[in-house]
Amino acid sequence: MDPQPVRRDTPACSICGEPAVIHQRYTGRYLCGPHLIADIEKRVSDTIASRQQVVPGDCVAVALSGGKDSTALLLILHQLFGSRGDIRLVAVTADEGISGYREATVRSAEDLTKRLGVEHITVSFAELFGDSLDTFLKGRETQACSICGILRKKALIVGAEQAGGTKLATGHNLDDEAQSVLMNVLRGDLTRLVRDSGADSGGRFIPRVKPLMYIQEKEIATYLMVQGVWEDLPECPYAIHALRREVRSMLSGIEYRHPGTMLRLMENKKRVGTAFLGKPPREPFGTCRECGDPCSGELCQLCELRQSLGR
Ligand code: SF4
Ligand code: ZN
Repeated sequence: MDPQPVRRDTPACSICGEPAVIHQRYTGRYLCGPHLIADIEKRVSDTIASRQQVVPGDCVAVALSGGKDSTALLLILHQLFGSRGDIRLVAVTADEGISGYREATVRSAEDLTKRLGVEHITVSFAELFGDSLDTFLKGRETQACSICGILRKKALIVGAEQAGGTKLATGHNLDDEAQSVLMNVLRGDLTRLVRDSGADSGGRFIPRVKPLMYIQEKEIATYLMVQGVWEDLPECPYAIHALRREVRSMLSGIEYRHPGTMLRLMENKKRVGTAFLGKPPREPFGTCRECGDPCSGELCQLCELRQSLGR
C-alpha cells in the first residue's frame, strides 16, 4: 500500500506514513489503525507464548464482562486461536446483578459471542449465591469492590468448570496490573505484591492468565475504535468508592508525564518477586472447613464473606 498524503495536523504512522490513530508515548512511535492492531496482536501473542498461558489442548474460558477490556481480549484470542482445532474458546460472564449497569454489558457480551460463534455461559450471583450484588451491598457500599471481587472470582471459576475450561483468561490490562502493584504497596500487602496469579498452583485452582497484562488501557480503547466495536457503556455505580479509582487517576497522570512508568512498576514487581525466590512470603495452602476449597486459613474468603453477610 502506497503511503497516502497526510493532513498537516495529523501525525503520520512511524511505520507506513498513513495518518496515525495513537501516540505510543512509551516507545515514541505513532501508529495508524492497521499497525496498532498488528502491534497489539503480536504483543499479546508474545505474552501468551513466553508465559505459556495457552498451550495446545487447552480450553480457554474467557471472562467476558462485556466491557472494553474483556471484549478486546475475546476478539484477540479469537483472532489468534479461533481457527485452530487444538484450542477451544468459551466465554463466561458473571452477572453480579447491578441495576442500571450490568444489563447493557451483558447484552454487549451476548451480541459479541453470537457474532463470533463462541459458546457463552452466564453465571448469575442470584443463582449461585441466592441474591444480587445490589442486595448484598445494602449498607456496605464502601466495601463494594472487595465483596464483588470475591463473589465474582467464584462465579467465573464455576462457569469455567462448567465449560470444561483448563485456563481462565481475564482482561486485566497494564494499567490494572500497575495499579494493583501500587495498591498492594499502599496497603503493605507483601504476599499479594509478589504473588503471580498465573503461577502454577499444583492443580488446586484453574490457572488464571492475563494475556493483556502489557497492553495499555488507552491502546485497548483505540483498538476497539479502529475495529468499529467501541461502545460507550455505563460505569459501575460502585466504582466511586474504590481506592483503585484514586490510584488510577494518579498513575495515569504520572504515566502521561513520565512514559514507561507503568511498565517499570511491573518490572519492579518481578524484581521483588525474584528477590523472594526460595522464601516467598506466602501462607501455606489449607482446605476450607466449610466448602473444601483451597485457602490459607480455616475458612476461604468466600465462606468468611458468607458468614459476615449472614448467608
Ligand atoms: Fe464490582 Fe467494583 Fe467492578 Fe463494580 S467497580 S463491578 S463493584 S469490582
Ligand atoms: Zn470455603
